[in-house]
Amino acid sequence: MNPEHPLQPETLAVRAGTVRSQFNEHSEAMYLTSSFVFASAAEAAARFSGTEPGPIYARFTNPSVTMFEDRLAALEGAERCVAFASGMAAILATVMGLMKAGEHIVASRSIFGSTVQLFSNILGRFGVETTFVSPTDPEEWRAAVKPNTRLFFVESPSNPLTEVSDIRALADVAHAAGAWLAVDNCFCTPILQRPLDLGADIVIHSATKYLDGQGRVLGGAVLGRKDLMEGVYTFLRTAGPTLSAFNAWVLHKGLETLGIRMQAHSAGALELATWLEAHPKVSRVLYPGLPSHPQHALALRQQKTGGGIVAFEVVGGKDAAWKVIDATRVMSITANLGDTRTTITHPTSTTHSRMTPEQRATAGIGDGLIRIAVGLEAVVDLQNDLARGLDAL
Ligand SMILES: *Cc1c(COP(=O)(O)O)cnc(C)c1O
Repeated sequence: MNPEHPLQPETLAVRAGTVRSQFNEHSEAMYLTSSFVFASAAEAAARFSGTEPGPIYARFTNPSVTMFEDRLAALEGAERCVAFASGMAAILATVMGLMKAGEHIVASRSIFGSTVQLFSNILGRFGVETTFVSPTDPEEWRAAVKPNTRLFFVESPSNPLTEVSDIRALADVAHAAGAWLAVDNCFCTPILQRPLDLGADIVIHSATKYLDGQGRVLGGAVLGRKDLMEGVYTFLRTAGPTLSAFNAWVLHKGLETLGIRMQAHSAGALELATWLEAHPKVSRVLYPGLPSHPQHALALRQQKTGGGIVAFEVVGGKDAAWKVIDATRVMSITANLGDTRTTITHPTSTTHSRMTPEQRATAGIGDGLIRIAVGLEAVVDLQNDLARGLDAL
């Protein structure tokens, strides 16, 4: 026993970041207010000049938002967290806060579809160029570096193929190039993977997914060292992609159950993936927790478990995949993930339909591929739900 030992994640998830009002409420209060009152003209001046800490205006300071930021920062082991209205706002703010026109991003090819569109179509118009490379080959990242490269951007495991990137290796390549490594940690959450411990400079979240965990609100976050977060915060303060107090309060509560939810999602996913791998109508299963996964050893080193996302390919292409999806009665047919309720998606006709067939072929995303984000239902019910369609193929 060591009474001075730092608190464990389970404890931080329910204890960190709490601020009480003068009423000493046990459950955190929600601060639905757009602005804050000052005791005097001098106090107002001190708050605005930054010489005195404290809330000013809810575009950039709200106690409910700060509580969520501080709790998530404790879980990721980050000096500072800046919350945003959505995951996409967090990704945009990272680039807007840290980069300028004429600079260059190296990004994994296997990142969230809207991130690809943001980097290619929108940032490209403002003179920030992106080169897309393989998530699993650090040498491709090294080869893509240019003198003006400032940012590496990766998601691990990737969507929908669950490819695992070597975060430590990518951090080394980024730092040798004078760039920062940003990791979108949406799929693992800090419960399963802490990118800053592995050498990353920036962690990004779509809080909409597992951090909320019940499919209720949108939110996002950027975390890292204080000096890096200053630019990200300045963008938030000036441009206003602010997380609402209500959503922050929901997310702060969501973090309290994150640990047990991630364990349950992971256990369910492993059981379902193992069962799918033995099914004759399934040609391959992609799950980092399975020994058959191409980066299984790396996943075991870098993550606590394989996570909650399972992808599998059925024999018979798109028609067969649609039959399996349409035969389900328990799972929700939706592109969202990280919910208590299991979701089932056909990537090539939904989340990845904006990719060209050639891009999908290069990435290995076939027409028979189905992605499942395993919820908290009994696994036997999920197996029966899939067996209904699979057995009829
Ligand atoms: C959903 C998602 C995002 C975008 O988050 P929003 O909250 O929907 O804006 C970014 N990255 C990953 C990996 C996601 O799954």
